[in-house]
Amino acid sequence: MALIVMKFGGSSVANTERIANATRIITDSYKSGNEVVVIVSAQGDTTDELIEKAHGIGTRPSKREMDMLLSSGEQISSALLAIAIEQAGFKVVSLTGWQAGIRTSSAYSQARVRKIDTIRIRKELDSNSIVVVAGFQGVNDEGDITTLGRGGSDTSAVAVAAALRADRCIIYTDVDGVYTADPRKIKTAQKLSEISFDEMLELASLGAQVLQNRSVELAKKYNVNLEVKSSITDVEGTLVKEVIDVEGMLIRGITKDENIVAVSVLEVPDIPGVAFKIFSLVGQRNINVDIILQSEGRDGLQDITFTVSKLDSEMTRAILEENLSTIGGRSIKIDNSVAKVSIVGSGMQSNSGVASRMF
Ligand code: ADP
Ligand code: ASP
Ligand code: MG
Repeated sequence: MALIVMKFGGSSVANTERIANATRIITDSYKSGNEVVVIVSAQGDTTDELIEKAHGIGTRPSKREMDMLLSSGEQISSALLAIAIEQAGFKVVSLTGWQAGIRTSSAYSQARVRKIDTIRIRKELDSNSIVVVAGFQGVNDEGDITTLGRGGSDTSAVAVAAALRADRCIIYTDVDGVYTADPRKIKTAQKLSEISFDEMLELASLGAQVLQNRSVELAKKYNVNLEVKSSITDVEGTLVKEVIDVEGMLIRGITKDENIVAVSVLEVPDIPGVAFKIFSLVGQRNINVDIILQSEGRDGLQDITFTVSKLDSEMTRAILEENLSTIGGRSIKIDNSVAKVSIVGSGMQSNSGVASRMF
């Protein structure tokens, strides 16, 4: 008997047929004697639709209320999946994040899993139930619902697997593994039979949404036996693990991230301390800065450009405009038409010529 944590993403539970398919995978594993904990995402595009609905009502909804709203998507899919499993004749219980004991930091919309109190899940497993847990959510010390950032159900799955010391954590999704590039965009992308935690973490952080980067961080920290697999076709997926056979491979993959904007603070004084002022202001609002470029100084002035997530675009503009006179800049410019392309591979560090081949 093994303890298996399975996660089904949004498209893998998008409709009745997909739910039936997931039910088959879950109950087959249970029938072969495993203890099964399932983490589920909201159906299809539910999360996007809920975001749109909120923005139709308020232009800047608070993050607390957004978390309250968005977590409902996973609550629906977990109950629907449990109903399907029940219908198939199995003992099952669905749990929200807080019922499952998932405690998080207080940062609404970007909360981190702090601790999982596994008593309830363990009790349900001991009574021979299949346990279905709503992904993407937890509860903070104030007793409020929090969410774990877009794609956060992957992190719920890995965190639960780590806390339960599960034998395997299988991420079922709509592609049959991790590829060298997004297989929906690049037809010649190749499936990787395995990938190291470090390389997967880079791919995920640089835009390959197949796993949320925090899930990979956690999997590495707790050495979770992690696999990405198709929920539709039964073929071998990709194993994500500590050490892999590199076979002399220099580059493991290519990613693109269109979810960014370039923010420029134009004509700031070219003196030490200005960049510090800008990035302190941004940092105080928990806005993550990625690429930073400083133009060459001319006439004692320079431009400072950096990228942030599209989601943080307006907040970044607001805070910089409010403080423009303290920073000493002329104006703020935001460019929405940028994307970041990255190549990833741990073999690159000790090899030359990679940049020229990329360009
Ligand atoms: P889920 O709803 O199952 O969580 P996601 O949409 O979050 O699924 O992630 C799966 C998607 O990730 C795929 O449909 C694919 O288009 C995209 N993707 C991007 N880069 C990669 C990659 N390198 N390998 C596999 N899939 C990738
Ligand atoms: N439903 C959430 C999202 O769309 C979480 C997830 O799918 O993992 O981001
Ligand atoms: Mg996902």
